[in-house]
Amino acid sequence: MTQTFSRDDVAKHNTEDSLWFVIDAKVYDVSEFVDAHPGGEAVLRQVAGTDATVAFYNLHRHEVLTKYEDLCIGTLQGEKSQVITPQPGDLSTVPYAEPLWLTPPFKNPYYNDSHRRLQKAMRVFTDKYITPEAQAREKDGQYISQELIDRMSKEGILHMRMGPGKHLHGVELLGDAVKGEEFDYFHDLIMGQEGVRANARGFQDGNMAGMVIGLSAVMNFMKDQKRKKAIMDEVFSGKKKICLAITEAFAGSDVAGLRTTATKTADGKHYIVNGTKKWITNGVFSDYFVTGVKTDKGLSVLLIERGEGVETKPIKTSYSPAAGTTYITYDNVKVPVENLLGEENRGIYVILSNFNHERWTMVCGTTRMMRTVVEECLKWCHQRIVFGKRLIDQPVIRQKLAKMIALTESHQSWLETITYQMCNMAYKDQATYLGGPIGLLKMSATRAAHEVADESVQIFGGRGLTQSGMGSVIEMFHRTYKFDAILGGAEEVLGDLGVRQAMRMMPKAML
Ligand SMILES: Cc1cc2nc3c(=O)[nH]c(=O)nc-3n(C[C@H](O)[C@H](O)[C@H](O)COP(=O)(O)OP(=O)(O)OC[C@H]3O[C@@H](n4cnc5c(N)ncnc54)[C@H](O)[C@@H]3O)c2cc1C
Repeated sequence: MTQTFSRDDVAKHNTEDSLWFVIDAKVYDVSEFVDAHPGGEAVLRQVAGTDATVAFYNLHRHEVLTKYEDLCIGTLQGEKSQVITPQPGDLSTVPYAEPLWLTPPFKNPYYNDSHRRLQKAMRVFTDKYITPEAQAREKDGQYISQELIDRMSKEGILHMRMGPGKHLHGVELLGDAVKGEEFDYFHDLIMGQEGVRANARGFQDGNMAGMVIGLSAVMNFMKDQKRKKAIMDEVFSGKKKICLAITEAFAGSDVAGLRTTATKTADGKHYIVNGTKKWITNGVFSDYFVTGVKTDKGLSVLLIERGEGVETKPIKTSYSPAAGTTYITYDNVKVPVENLLGEENRGIYVILSNFNHERWTMVCGTTRMMRTVVEECLKWCHQRIVFGKRLIDQPVIRQKLAKMIALTESHQSWLETITYQMCNMAYKDQATYLGGPIGLLKMSATRAAHEVADESVQIFGGRGLTQSGMGSVIEMFHRTYKFDAILGGAEEVLGDLGVRQAMRMMPKAML
């Protein structure tokens, strides 16, 4: 593409047989392409021989052009491209598109060089490997490829997604971006926020979300240390998949209402499990099921292997089948008693113990998605011309953006405050002091997401309801933000948890 042309050269190519135009100082010859243009021939003929930059960006995302690079025949003499094409790993230069700690000249007390290295490495990885696969799977509904799982395993990404801990010691993490021994909850936050930039909510859960919520029960509660290590190795190497199976049609929020039973055999060596589970993420492709069951005097948690009597089938939901949402039936499944996680009849502690991290991870994702939506809206408002003005020139639209930015920034700051407590509070104190605040934070983040999703669709108009093109991220977020408002604890339940924890801490004396 070394040839250069004047604007007069381009202007001559506005005939039936020869159709050229300019976009962003580049000259395109679409003479042979007009019939294939998805938007029809007429709109291309209207801009023949002209600079079509404004008309193009009024309708299209920049990425569209990269599909048609072979139509570009040269550049305009003495003119330079103004549009920025992001490269893998780049930070966005759009205001509020990155958290303040990544936005010069803002300072932040929480992040050091290892956080910056990890952020950079994970962004490159996401841009190069996760996003292309996520977008493809989101469309075709297939499950995550073994190739991507293997790649994540090799880079220690699967390990890091379980949060800080001994399992990271000695593991090479994204080319040594961070030492396992120094990995803290801010590194964990970065992993959570960078990963969701693939903009595919269904695939996001399909990408080993079952492991994030299920493996921790094995890591913290399996008594046989050798077996525990073997299972962790299988999962971290990507050879085996695991999920958390608590919810049933009969009981979701009210975990105590579970009806799946586990009855001990007469010789006391096995449990026989019968029952069902509903909406289990990654269940269809899992080998291990961390399962909530009813034993004689309460709830217990068993690690159940796929085998005789375990059946899984996909459930269709409003996000992509790539998530692997599953209905499970257990029919006289024989489970060795060694597979009991934690104590018999005290499984509620196993179930509750992981909730803080699960909910906090979901806030990381929701907050980052809100930010991406803010970025999309800011870009769109500067491109879209209505009534002869850019959308951004409408005060009503600026008010919507102000609300969206404020909601995003306030939740990121609250999230960082809570994350700092997680880094500095003994694990046993976290249940007492952070269960309520994390519940309130998740409730508030998904309420904010509701507002952001709603306003963003208004800003994008029809495109906000269209799965391809300019508004595809907005459509996806509006269709899927509710998953975070229900999964891991519904808003009402979490709000109530937060207030009940505050009630317990009220001073005894009347105020
Ligand atoms: C796509 C998807 C994936 C999931 N993945 C998993 C998984 O991997 N593993 C797993 O175990 N579960 C999973 N779940 C289940 C999820 O955690 C439950 O759906 C959730 O806990 C809510 O339970 P429920 O749907 O039975 O709603 P219910 O408990 O029937 O509640 C319905 C509504 O009632 C209201 N409500 C309930 N209790 C109260 C209260 N105390 N006060 C006020 N209002 C209340 C809330 O508005 C709530 O949304 C998944 C669900 C979905 C949809």
